[in-house]
Order: sequence, then structure tokens, then C-alpha cells
Amino acid sequence: MELLDGRKVKKEKLQQLREKLNRCEEQVGLAVIQIGEDPASSVYVRQKEKMANDLGYYFKHIKLAENVTEEEVLSLIDQLNEDNLIDGILVQMPIPKHLDSKKIQNRIHYLKDVDGLTDINAGRLIHNQDTLVPCTPMGIMTLLEYYGIEVSGKNVVIVGRSDLVGKPLAALMTNQDATVTICHSKTKNLSTYTKQADILVVAVGKSNLIREKDVKEEAIIIDVGINRLEDGKLCGDVDFESVSRKASYITPVPGGVGQMTVYELGNNTYKAKMLRKKNSNL
Ligand code: NAD
Repeated sequence: MELLDGRKVKKEKLQQLREKLNRCEEQVGLAVIQIGEDPASSVYVRQKEKMANDLGYYFKHIKLAENVTEEEVLSLIDQLNEDNLIDGILVQMPIPKHLDSKKIQNRIHYLKDVDGLTDINAGRLIHNQDTLVPCTPMGIMTLLEYYGIEVSGKNVVIVGRSDLVGKPLAALMTNQDATVTICHSKTKNLSTYTKQADILVVAVGKSNLIREKDVKEEAIIIDVGINRLEDGKLCGDVDFESVSRKASYITPVPGGVGQMTVYELGNNTYKAKMLRKKNSNL
């Protein structure tokens, strides 16, 4: 079994990105909008800030009160869409329930949508056009490519169908000629599907959902889940100890897909600048 080491790949990929940035005359800018006081969101925003600082990006962290109105959020996004110093905009999820998250995400100009969650970017991805793709699925593709794992012709089973992970990953895998099955909370006999997978991706948020009996010999296992145990430690959705004995490759949690997600946000923000320059319509 070989570990798919997100930390190592992130480090190398960030170095390659820095080299590209050295050749770029203008500073890259990222704006993160945080609404309310969700403690997990503060941790994620700090991670993004650190990544942005490491890459020398201009980082704008805008904190809005829990009771902000939808109009105020939309008008802030309009300003950021027009702001030439800002290449990427993201709204940290979750946001308070009185706000329409789809409407807010769709207000971001698609060329600044570094989370890849606008309807335009989701559609462009389905149509296999070069665009901004959600960071986690993109990170999975980068990790597989780094380890020379071919996707074409493989049976790929994805457990989880969120707009952030499962669905865009299914599109990326299909665009690269994999045969893709998507499973979710209503799937009956999950194990029947997971056992068929050459590449099994699990993005649910339930520890030990996948055990040794649920995977086939030599399968490639990508564990996206992040679960906090009672002792404060993090684990994925896959029982790492038993499954790693059967798998050919597996991602650890932490140190796997999460690391790649952070890198891809840095890369998407740079890419957003390049795409915008090419389109120069903002
Ligand atoms: P989500 O809650 O939006 O989606 C969960 C999906 O799991 C749904 O599609 C649901 O149908 C499916 N599901 C629920 N119970 C199931 C079951 N018993 N069997 C099969 N499918 C089931 O979550 P999300 O945003 O896609 O995130 C999923 C997990 O991945 C979470 O643990 C999250 O923290 C983690 N995550 C990690 C990263 C990273 O960078 N590593 C990024 C995003 C999300």
C-alpha cells in the first residue's frame, strides 16, 4: 500500500505555483466573506489567509454580522466583482439560514468564482470547458495525476453527491473517461457498489462508513470526510487501519485531500486572474 501524501504534493505544487507567480507582474488578490461567528469557519478562513500570505497574495477578509441582510451581502459582492485588486471571491459556508446561499454564490462573477459553485461554472464543467472548478474535487484529480494514476477506463465510485465534492468530481472523472457511479444517502446496499470500485471516493462525513469488507483488493481509496472524534482527533469516512491493508493507494486523514484543497484555492485564484486577463471584460 502506498500513501497518497497530500502534504508532500501540496508542498511541491505550491512551489511550482510560486515560480509562475514570480513571472506574474501584478499581485493576485483573494477576498473571503465570512458571515456570523461559526467557529469552524474561522479556522478555515485562517487556513486560507495563511495560504494567501505564503503566496504573497493580497488577502481581504470581510467579516459580516450574523444579522446582515441579503441585500447588503449582494451589494458587497457587486463591489468586489468590480474591484480590480480582487481576482477571487468566496463566501465561507455555512451562512445564516435567512440568507439564500445559491443566490449569493451566483452573484459572484464566474471569472472570480474560485469555489467553482456558480451555475455558470458548474455548467461549463459539465460541458468540459476550461473553467474554475471546486477546489476539493480538483485537488483529488491533481493528487491522482501526481501519483501517475490513470483515470480513463476505471470504475470510479463516488459516495456523496454534494455540489461541492461529489457532483463536480463525477463530471471531472467522466470528462477524463472514467465510468462513474454516484452513491448517496438513498442508495440501497452501498457495499455492492463500493466493492466494484477501482477508485473509491468517499465524501459523506461519517467515520468508519467504509470498512475492509466494502472495498476490493488493490482498490485506490480517496477519503474526503473530515470527522472530529470525542478525543478531538480528526478521522475520515474510511476505517484507515483495516482498509489500508487491502488498498493499493489510500489518502490519510488528516494529510490527504484537505491539503490539496488548500493548494487548489491558491491555484484557482491565480487561474482566475489569468482567465480574467484573457477575457478582459471586467
Ligand atoms: P454534504 O453533507 O453536503 O454531503 C454529504 C453526502 O453524503 C450527501 O450527498 C449524502 O447523500 C451522502 N450520504 C449521507 N449519508 C450517507 C450514507 N449513509 N451512505 C451514502 N451516502 C451518504 O457534505 P460535503 O460538503 O460533500 O462533505 C462531505 C464530507 O467531506 C464532510 O465530512 C466534510 O467535512 C468533508 N469535506 C472535506 C473537504 C476536504 O478538503 N478534505 C472538503 C469538503 C468537504
